[in-house]
Formats: sequence, C-alpha cells, structure tokens
Amino acid sequence: MIHSSDTIVACATPTGGAIAVVRMSGHDAISIAERMFRPRGHHALSEADGYTAHYGEVIDSEGVVIDDVVLTLFRAPRSYTGEDSIEISCHGSAYIVGQIIRRAIDCGARAATAGEFTTRAFLAGKIDLAQAEGVADMIASTDRATHRVALNQMRGGFSTELRGLRDELLRLSALLELELDFAEEEVEFADRTTLQHIMTAIDSHLARLVDSFSLGNALKEGIATAIVGAPNAGKSTLLNRLLNEERAMVSEIAGTTRDSIEESIVIAGRRFRVIDTAGIRSTDDRLEQMGIDRTFSSLRRATVVLLVCDCSTWHDHEDARDAAEAINHTITDLQLAEEQTLITILNKCDCVSAKFVAALRGELSGEVLTISARTGEGIDEVVSALAQIAEKMTAEAGDTVVTSARHYEALINARWALGRALEGMAGGLPSDLLSEEIRQVIYYLGTITGEITTDEILGQIFSKFCIGK
Ligand code: GDP
Repeated sequence: MIHSSDTIVACATPTGGAIAVVRMSGHDAISIAERMFRPRGHHALSEADGYTAHYGEVIDSEGVVIDDVVLTLFRAPRSYTGEDSIEISCHGSAYIVGQIIRRAIDCGARAATAGEFTTRAFLAGKIDLAQAEGVADMIASTDRATHRVALNQMRGGFSTELRGLRDELLRLSALLELELDFAEEEVEFADRTTLQHIMTAIDSHLARLVDSFSLGNALKEGIATAIVGAPNAGKSTLLNRLLNEERAMVSEIAGTTRDSIEESIVIAGRRFRVIDTAGIRSTDDRLEQMGIDRTFSSLRRATVVLLVCDCSTWHDHEDARDAAEAINHTITDLQLAEEQTLITILNKCDCVSAKFVAALRGELSGEVLTISARTGEGIDEVVSALAQIAEKMTAEAGDTVVTSARHYEALINARWALGRALEGMAGGLPSDLLSEEIRQVIYYLGTITGEITTDEILGQIFSKFCIGK
C-alpha cells in the first residue's frame, strides 16, 4: 500500500466512449497541469478557484496540440481525494488518453495503481472503508435495487448505523472500566439489567444486518428463480416469454432441455437469475438423470420456484380434483424449504376449457397463475408476481443491506463476541473481562468502516478496484 503524497494520474473512464476523463491528484496536480495545458482564456490555473472548468488545449513538450479539452480544477480539501485534483475531459481515443497521461508523467506525475484515488480519499478521511466499497458497488450496480443499496453505503448510511452501535458500545465499556477504578468500593456504574437490555438490542440490530446478507447477495447476483416441471410442460417457452427472445431451445421432444439454462432478467428494477431446469421425470437415461440431479440442486438454491404444469395433459372431462392431486404430489416431491416461494403456473391454458382451468384453480392452494406461454396470455401476471416478491424482500430489509462478504464476516464475529459478553454477564463475569468482550465487538465493527485496519486489508480491498478509481 502506497501512502505517498506524490501526484498520480490515470484514465477514469472505460475505452470506447466519445469522451474520456483523465484524472490527476496530488500536491503538484495543478502545477503539472499548468505545464501541459494552454487555456483559451487569460486565467492561470495556479490562480483559479476550486470547482472551476477551463477550456483549452493539452500540448506536448514542443507546444504541439494533443487535444482540445475541458479541464476541471478541484482544490484541497474539497475534492474526491482531499488533495488538489484535476480532471481533463478529452476526446475518447485511447491514443489521445495515452498521450495525455504520458505528458502528465513527463511533467512529474506518476501512473496511479488500482484504486489509488479511492485509497487516498480513505486515507484523507473523506470516506470510510465501507463507503469506499460502496463506490465500487455503485460503479458495478446494474439495476435499481443494487444502485439504491450502493448509494446508501457510499453516502455513509451503513457507516452511520455502525457508528451509532459502536458509540453505544464504547459508552458501555467506558462505564465498565470506570468500575475498575472503584474496585474497592464494589460500585456498579453500569446497571446490569440496563446493560443487558442495550446489548440485546444491539444484538438484534446486528442480527438484522447479518440476515440482510442473503438479500444483499440476491440483489447483487439476482434473485435465484428456478423454473421446474415435467418435460414439455413449457418451461423453456415461459423463459423465452420472460426474456422476450428465443434464447432457450424449445423442442417438441420431451426431455431435450437436459442442461440448466440460466438467464438474467431485470423485472421492476430487480435482477432475477432465472434457471430453466431439465424436466423432472423418472428416466433410465444417464445423461437425463444427471440433468434432473442438477435440477434438484438448482431447486435447493432457488429463492423463487416456478412450477410449470401442462394443462393439456388433462382433458376437459377429467375431474379437476385428480389433476390437482397430481400437482400437489409434484409439489410435495419438490421438498421446498419454508423460506422458498412457490408459484404454481398452469400452462397451455389455450388447450383446455376455461371451466376446467377454473375448477383446477379452485382445487389448488397457494399462489396459482394461469398462462399460455405460447400465446403470451397471463405472462404479465407472472411478471407482477415476481416484482411483488422482490418488493417484499427489499421492503423487509430496510435501507441498509449487507452486500459484502467482508462485512458479513465482521458482523458474524461481532455477534459472536457480543454473545460471549451477554453470557458472561449472566454468569457474573467481572467488569474488566466484560469490557474486554465488548471491546472485541467494537473491534469487529471498526474493521468494517476502517477505524481499525491494516495495510494488508486495505491492499486487498483496493486492489480489486480498477485503475482510475
Ligand atoms: P420444456 O421441456 O418444459 O422446456 O417445454 P418447451 O418449452 O420446450 O415446450 C414444449 C412444447 O410445448 C413446445 O412445442 C411448445 O411450443 C409447447 N408449448 C409451450 N407452452 C405452450 C402453451 O402455452 N400452449 C401450447 N399449446 N403449447 C405450448
């Protein structure tokens, strides 16, 4: 990890755009810029205020123009890094960007390493570690839900929440430590019942954050949704409908979707990872059996299960109760866990009478939707059912959702230490040992925001950033 005060330069935008931004930060950023930039106006950069934009040209050592650019100037401490900074918006050619960076280096800057701008922002105290990680998530966000979570984290929502808990714990440990000074008198500054109340409340708070990680994962990776059902029930056709394009292979021969197909779909601002599984039926075919085994493993990992039933296998004169019984039998075989959401989809409703479908629906419990994947009838309801599930998941979690495995691990460790403190208190643990346990909780919470950190941890986090971040 580099803790230097030299001036760094890098391109902050991906290649291929109409405009690129070259970013420079450090003590000499403005004087270096002055050597390579010829303003159109009369103002010298060295005299310009922060937050000002300047039109002009970047020139090489011989005064030959490299590009017409707009240069934005930031003065310390009011910049992303807290240092004097320059952003040069130039034309988005890799050649031009390369020339500008080269010129900056010739004038005294150094090529930035991965995440070095954000590292400097962290070291300058502009943002804490959780916020820095929020910046990375923000850049990686692909839909409304991940964007909202990352924005909250980047703006310090999560950090503020943690700081509140940390302050409370610091207060408790200070009270306990005060008791040590008066050990002879055997006074209790921290009333044990109140202490227990506060600690239990903090533990519930931490538990909520820990629990939010599975949602955080679901938001980041997409809510795992498995489409299951008998071969030929119309699973691939349904997936295609949802995708609005023919990507999964649709076939008349039963059992052709041997392998699982996974697609990512954004519905109502939330990403779903929809897995079209191999049809479930008993078979002697080894390959097909392998597909079915994979179906069950996708099924176990799914948050949402769409069970597709083929209505055309029943005839209108059949008793709807028999059909319902067969469906219920399949549902039992799925062995879903309590937290999984099942939607039963009666497909191919275009092949049977509305009366039969209505009778069948009447016999089934839970969420049942009637569709024709072929004609598109009822697809809207599938989409809105999925949107509702996502809505409910995010509403339950609140604004702070843990999305990083690093934070999750720290929270688990914090809860573990807190559990020990609570246990110790119940067993009459002396104040100094109790305070020690509480300090452990504080330590783990501190690792999230970076109050407590090592160069190694910082290196690990920031090396995942790209250059220019
Ligand atoms: P999968 O094996 O469950 O993935 O089934 P497919 O999606 O490959 O569909 C099997 C057959 O059923 C294909 O010929 C589809 O065109 C047909 N199919 C799917 N959905 C419907 C539907 O709603 N109505 C009708 N009539 N046929 C459908």
